[in-house]
Amino acid sequence: MAFDIEESDFIIVGAGLVGAVIARELAVNQQKKILIWERRNHIAGNMYDYIDDFGIRVHKYGPHVFHTNDENLFDYITQFGEFDKFSIDYLAEIDGIQTPTPFNFKTIDDFFPRREAEELKQHIKEYFPFQETVPILKILKHSDPIIRKYGEFLFEKDYAPYTAKQWGISPKDIDPSVLARVPVRFSYKIGYFDDKFQALPSNGYTAVFNNILNHKNINIELNTDALSRLFFSEDNTELLVKGLNKKVQVIYTGALDELFDWSLGALPYRSLKFEWRHEKVASFQNAPIVAYPQEPLFTRITEYNKLPVQQDRGASYAIEYPQIYDRNKEVEPYYPILTNESQTLYKKYLEKASKVKNLTLAGRLADFKYYNMDQALKRALETVQVVINKRD
Ligand code: FAD
Repeated sequence: MAFDIEESDFIIVGAGLVGAVIARELAVNQQKKILIWERRNHIAGNMYDYIDDFGIRVHKYGPHVFHTNDENLFDYITQFGEFDKFSIDYLAEIDGIQTPTPFNFKTIDDFFPRREAEELKQHIKEYFPFQETVPILKILKHSDPIIRKYGEFLFEKDYAPYTAKQWGISPKDIDPSVLARVPVRFSYKIGYFDDKFQALPSNGYTAVFNNILNHKNINIELNTDALSRLFFSEDNTELLVKGLNKKVQVIYTGALDELFDWSLGALPYRSLKFEWRHEKVASFQNAPIVAYPQEPLFTRITEYNKLPVQQDRGASYAIEYPQIYDRNKEVEPYYPILTNESQTLYKKYLEKASKVKNLTLAGRLADFKYYNMDQALKRALETVQVVINKRD
């Protein structure tokens, strides 16, 4: 152990992206001593990757591609490892045909008879002469019946069943407005994301985390549930550490309802289960990720040997099943279910947290938000400033 808990200036709960970056910044730029408690047996949170039994690098908690339009964030993360430019191809299988997603002009060619396809593309060019992508909602609500029919086809065959399965509701209860921002391409361009920077770390995310966390002022304890070590003072204004007579600042990146022992009720999440398989074939499917909207139980399959810098050792893939989240079972809270009710409950927990003087919250769980990695990174860097100002 590099230093003792008595010497720590901060305890950070969670060694995911947010916890790790905050630790790095405080350790290097503020010369603070940081103790990280991580419940899992590894660092890197949901970005954790490893080499499987067949020599292929896989992402334990689902496929992760770093993408951003913010050059500063890209520069920040690439300080900690080499990244390969990578634009991920994504297909969706509808009625047995695999078509690009976001859907593009090839989708029209794939599903409509030639004459109808040409007519539809012509209408699109007339109504949207300068638009590369358009949200599906706009297509569904369009005044032109031919364009609207295309939207209805995509909604019925893909968006409604996929979204319903993802969130555990019936397709007929899917309100198209939830898809307000989902893009459809009006060109033959492919590639899942449009961001300026899209990349994967050449040696994996876990190696990037090793570099972020490798500092004499950072001490990490894995397999350590912070909640078995922390407790609230009687007036609930301080978080204290069992057996420690010193006050210490706590930065918490875990779930907020859990921190307060679910005293106001549980925040709702959706979970995932991954079924891992390996086959001795060079290729299992036509793209790294294929979505299967019409399958009853799973949403998509990721074939990891199709990500960059893999050896030709067969196909390792994970089938992704959305699941109910139950905190009493061994499942992870992946996606917050954002409703008016859940936001209200979250705000009540936030109010409780604001009374705890030595507590700072950040991260997808503590903030009860879905963050892409660049948003999580931004949140971490902003939190560092908050923490520094708080102490001054
Ligand atoms: P986490 O990574 O969850 O880290 C929090 C850590 O805190 C965890 O390791 C947890 O074990 C630990 N912890 C919690 N409670 C305690 C406790 N009591 N004691 C000790 N430790 C505790 N983003 C992209 O930009 N591109 C993608 O392609 C992408 N794909 C994704 C795919 C899936 C399936 C999912 C779910 C997310 C994806 N993301 C993607 C989002 C990305 O995973 C997050 O932005 C990022 O991991 C958030 O980091 P974090 O530190 O907030 O949370």
